[in-house]
Amino acid sequence: MLKFLQSEQGGLDGSLLNGARLIGRPLLRAGRAVQDLIIPPRCAGCGKIVQDANSLCGACWGEMEWIARPYCSVSGVPFSYDLGEALVSPDVLANPPAYDRARSVALFGRTARRMVHQLKYMDRTDLAIVMGRWMVRAGADCLTDPDAIIVPVPLHKRRLWRRRFNQSALLAKVIAQETGTVFMPDLLQRTRPTRQQVGLSEDERRVNVEGAFQINLDDKTSLSGRTVVLVDDVWTTGATLDACCRVLRRSNAGEICIITFARVAAGSEMPI
Ligand SMILES: [Zn+2]
Repeated sequence: MLKFLQSEQGGLDGSLLNGARLIGRPLLRAGRAVQDLIIPPRCAGCGKIVQDANSLCGACWGEMEWIARPYCSVSGVPFSYDLGEALVSPDVLANPPAYDRARSVALFGRTARRMVHQLKYMDRTDLAIVMGRWMVRAGADCLTDPDAIIVPVPLHKRRLWRRRFNQSALLAKVIAQETGTVFMPDLLQRTRPTRQQVGLSEDERRVNVEGAFQINLDDKTSLSGRTVVLVDDVWTTGATLDACCRVLRRSNAGEICIITFARVAAGSEMPI
């Protein structure tokens, strides 16, 4: 066998290397199978044992409230009825937002909420891969510019220290890797801690995040005319995202897009 490999590859080193590669793959597969026996992969929604890691069981998949067309071409909010050619919602026409386009994977229903919760608080940082890939698909029309900068909504450093990671940065990194675009995790900074937005009125929310963000950029880099894709896990009230967009606008960013994993439906009081 060794002789045969030697003659085929023209050298012992090459043949051994190749042999190791041939053996390596099944070993890797076997290793994964053993790992799956010890720690079987669980549904990211309900915890039921599933075949593939980072996937949902059939029931949770069916329960995800995926956002699909028809939706507003600006805000990405699904229309409850088909508006035909009028693809911009009346809300957006009445109050033009600070961003150009926003897209989300799903409404913040039971399954999406559990996924976000596990990513954020249950150490399931591995979920960022599948969630980020879904975000690439949902936000495809925000990701057409190869020079775009992918930026997460930042946490204040005190909260970052407590949680150890920024879930939005994990998602943004996957999006940048999948699309080959630039990931700038520190472009936006939170200059002061802010209260949780839940339970605040619209005005209170705006005041809460006003002046809470700043751009952190060296003198050599300019945002002028650059497409910026802002990434967050959940779109709740939109006040935080709006504050980030305003800071980016002031720095002359070109197109500003927002991609979130989930979006709280208008009028919903679903807690995070
Ligand atoms: Zn499930």
